[in-house]
Amino acid sequence: MTNADDSHLSSTSSQTGGTLPLIDRAGMFKDRIAITTANSTHTYGELAIAAQRIAGALLGDKMDLQEQRVAYLVTPGFEYVAVQWGIWLAGGVAVPLCISHPRPELEYVIQHSQASIVVSDRAHEYPLSALTHALQVVYWSISHCMTHPIKDLPPICPNRRALMLFTSGTTGKPKGVVSTHAIIQAQVTSLVTAWEWTSADRILHFLPLHHIHGVINVLTCALWSGAQCHILPKFDAHEVWRCLKKGDLTLLMGVPTIYIKLIRAWEELPDWEQKQVITRCSQMRLMVSGSAALPVQVLQTWQTITGQMLLERYGMTEIGMALSNPLHGERRAGRVGQPLPLVKVRLVDESGVVVPEGIPGEIQVQGETIFLEYWHDPHATSQAFQDGWFRTGDWAVLDDGYYQILGRFSADIIKTGGYKVSALEIEEVLRTHPGIDDCSVVGIPDCEWGERVGVAVILKPMAELSLSDLRQWCKERLAVYKVPTRLINVVEFPRNPMGKVIKPAVKPLFTDE
Ligand code: AMP
Repeated sequence: MTNADDSHLSSTSSQTGGTLPLIDRAGMFKDRIAITTANSTHTYGELAIAAQRIAGALLGDKMDLQEQRVAYLVTPGFEYVAVQWGIWLAGGVAVPLCISHPRPELEYVIQHSQASIVVSDRAHEYPLSALTHALQVVYWSISHCMTHPIKDLPPICPNRRALMLFTSGTTGKPKGVVSTHAIIQAQVTSLVTAWEWTSADRILHFLPLHHIHGVINVLTCALWSGAQCHILPKFDAHEVWRCLKKGDLTLLMGVPTIYIKLIRAWEELPDWEQKQVITRCSQMRLMVSGSAALPVQVLQTWQTITGQMLLERYGMTEIGMALSNPLHGERRAGRVGQPLPLVKVRLVDESGVVVPEGIPGEIQVQGETIFLEYWHDPHATSQAFQDGWFRTGDWAVLDDGYYQILGRFSADIIKTGGYKVSALEIEEVLRTHPGIDDCSVVGIPDCEWGERVGVAVILKPMAELSLSDLRQWCKERLAVYKVPTRLINVVEFPRNPMGKVIKPAVKPLFTDE
């Protein structure tokens, strides 16, 4: 693991060989459509110009943002991408904010990333202008940036920091995962090669744009390839089916929960529309599932209703995508395939010794796609590596040449609807509730969400707490996907002789509920 130092900031264009390959490539596709939404269509040329204007506005009278962090809260669509590219062209680090996050979560990301500028569209102007005022951070509205004249932009070296995505870990608050332009390029070209993206592709985008799946696998792969990205402001199963039935899409990517919701919505369609779906979907070239385990039954049902065998892949915010079933060749249910291009994978036992095929071990990953660092946390960064290999904390086995994910080491990581959340972070917040004496948060297996966030609470004397009251209270403090959907009251937790709560023994307490 190498940490970037500041010498890389003063690169010249001869070192960079130009500016940013992703944005340079937009010149090749200038007149092609890059982004469509329900009511707008934008070419690559328009995108590049908007990004240059935004870069000019962000720079003001500076020559280069020198890796200043710029956080942005923008509805998914053309303006979102223009801001992201504008930040990169100005030499900044893009920190996407989640549009559904309550104020404390936004505040944490802005403060932890030490963002010096925050940008938003009109829809998010109100919460942000007040927040940035309180935090004394510069606020820009996109409409202001878009009218800025184009000016000279700095040369950008590929090993500069480019993107900070927040992810939950086994300790404390979410960490800022930092990637450079070179790392993003490696993550993107690995997938573009493996899944054979071309400019003839057209993908539907409904995934959150503060998570690697939405930002890299869908948006940036599409734009790198000169493909079209049709962006929905948020996921809506009926709207997705309407788009799929039009028959002009070639690719679809989602998390298992989304495929389950789509199956439910398909069941409500009239007969003739169900038949139309199979014709349209079977003409598409690829549908991908990832970010959580895809239940085999879901894969089979999806195949029956669409004629498509989902391609399951495995990845992580810190490493991009690592394993994938093949585009051509046999895709196996319940398996995540083999290492992607530019990625090396090994399985090791507790003592760090590589295990042979058939023996379970921790997935460790190496390659150009691995993140640079956890922002301002060198200790966590170094702990995340063993002999230069990134330790994923996931457990897998190699079975007949295909990797099978067996689970995670830590019961404190919950995967719900494709989001990774930390039980410890939720517990910290819940312990500030006036009625809660102590609590233990666990992931409860669930066929729709993968896991649900469950909390066992010990209440203070005389206190009462309903799930709906708890949820209401939490929604003002936590991202909605972290808010518990299961609640039980207990008098004590199962504990080991050291007094530590035994989380695997807390989970079954929910089954009788
Ligand atoms: P995130 O960083 O939010 O993308 O979460 C990464 C984690 O999601 C991994 O460490 C795995 O625990 C889990 N994950 C991703 N893809 C899969 C998959 N195909 N099957 C099982 N777990 C997965």
